[in-house]
Amino acid sequence: MSASEVKTCLACRKPLKGRADKKFCDDYCRNNYNNQQKAKGNHSSFVRNINNALLKNRKVLESILPGTEETAKANKEKLLNLGFQFKYMTHIYTTKTGKTYYYCYDYGYLPLDNDWFLIVRKKEE
Ligand SMILES: [Zn+2]
Repeated sequence: MSASEVKTCLACRKPLKGRADKKFCDDYCRNNYNNQQKAKGNHSSFVRNINNALLKNRKVLESILPGTEETAKANKEKLLNLGFQFKYMTHIYTTKTGKTYYYCYDYGYLPLDNDWFLIVRKKEE
């Protein structure tokens, strides 16, 4: 570290005086910074959890509809047992005839009667 380098407070970015290992002006800045980091951490784990759930959902749908089949059917119990979480989806597609497909990336499902679902794969465009 060069002598001309001025260390700044991690919280408020003001130049720091005093001990070389100081990171904050005072306890107020230290607490502020720690709270910010905590909030950031929570946010990223929140995002990560949702991403994981979406990828898991896609994997479940893919396992039911592998290979070259265009559609497959599964009931709610099977989907839940495989770890599918219905609250997570990437987008919704409603057809002209009013059917609503719920998608997790390129895989989707259409709710049928009696808790059955038609599993579909998005066609290449
Ligand atoms: Zn400060």
